[in-house]
Amino acid sequence: MENFIFHNPTKLIFGQGQIKHLAQEVSRYGKRVLLVYGGGSIKRNGLYDEVLSQLQEMDAYVAELGGVEPNPRLTTAYQGIDICKKEQIELVLAVGGGSVIDCAKLIAAGAKYEGDAWDFCNRKAVPQAALPLGTVLTIAATGSEMNGNSVITNWETNEKNGWGSPLVLPKFSILDPVYTMTLPKDQTVYGMIDMMAHVLEHYFHQEPNTPLQDGYCEALLRTVMETAPKLLEDLHSYEHRSTILYCGTMALNGTLNMGFSGDWASHGIEHAVSAVYDIPHGGGLAILFPNWMMHVLDGNEARFKKFAVNVFGIASDGRSDRDVAEDGIAALRSFWNSIGAPRCLADYGIDDTKLDVMAEKAVSFGPIGGFQKLDYEDVLSIYRASL
Ligand code: NAP
Ligand code: FE
Repeated sequence: MENFIFHNPTKLIFGQGQIKHLAQEVSRYGKRVLLVYGGGSIKRNGLYDEVLSQLQEMDAYVAELGGVEPNPRLTTAYQGIDICKKEQIELVLAVGGGSVIDCAKLIAAGAKYEGDAWDFCNRKAVPQAALPLGTVLTIAATGSEMNGNSVITNWETNEKNGWGSPLVLPKFSILDPVYTMTLPKDQTVYGMIDMMAHVLEHYFHQEPNTPLQDGYCEALLRTVMETAPKLLEDLHSYEHRSTILYCGTMALNGTLNMGFSGDWASHGIEHAVSAVYDIPHGGGLAILFPNWMMHVLDGNEARFKKFAVNVFGIASDGRSDRDVAEDGIAALRSFWNSIGAPRCLADYGIDDTKLDVMAEKAVSFGPIGGFQKLDYEDVLSIYRASL
């Protein structure tokens, strides 16, 4: 195990009706709030009204930034930063999914920065301060509600860059499974794929002696796979919505990867696709991740065998590691397809015309991947296998 410091100060407030804590949590940070939300789902399901009534109760001044896009855009974050600066905002409150929260993170850091907030996404600057951020989550997927990461798209340059800072870890996050019940089937599926992908990004590392961490990862993957078909049968099940909501947060809040940092190439490879084609993150991962696995399998058969046996129960007696490993990768692919994930880039109408552009973007900061380093040619060949 590598040395590590684990410090996750986000206060998690989980369960039905827990929105009742909102006013009390907000009031710890001030009365001038920027409410950030997406394209309207919170207005349709009543959450917007509940949030506003809590804020009115505490006599807060509320400025609003609605319309945050899935794959949130830099230009939207700029609008939020302007509002924060002009209106002396004291707390940014994100109500929505990972896109809304990620956008709110850039707003929170950008509000305390004199330069261009894109500098954080471009690795030109590191935030030195940020406004406090609180969240009310509406989709189980990214873990953004309990981590310091954010992914922002610069649509002018077709770049989708991840950045992070402990300064933008939410101060509190309210997770009520009931708010996720209105999430349609396709977004529910994308969210479950994304959280599984986060676990897989952790699981594939080269650090020996991580038995408990491996077990946590395997249990989380099995739990999502056991729950997914039941949830898709009954999208209003409180039991299954809460299991998946908890899984999504635990998959990317630092708990699983104490002592190692994982791979993360597949996320970079997917971000380059959504930067150019604006596809859903989870859908892109379902296509690309199994092809990344096949690409890095040589020399890593033992790790993939462990994955196949412990996550999918694939029989290994008398068989080569490679055979067992390939069965595991096929089982992952077929599980994702069974819950309705896309199979190939063509499912999104993507052909081979921009593969080189995307591959360049994926490695624009240098080779990617902690488990196995990938360069431009590697990424290109993963895209080709995904067509
Ligand atoms: P999202 O982009 O926030 O939301 C997807 C869609 O679901 C939106 O159209 C949204 O509509 C809708 N929606 C959300 N909650 C809903 C509800 N309760 N009922 C009905 N519709 C609802 O999805 P996401 O998967 O959470 O976030 C994806 C983004 O996060 C990507 O940009 C990805 O790259 C990034 N990401 C971040 C991290 C991280 O750690 N920060 C990790 C992985 C990925 P409305 O807009 O109308 O609300
Ligand atoms: Fe992700």
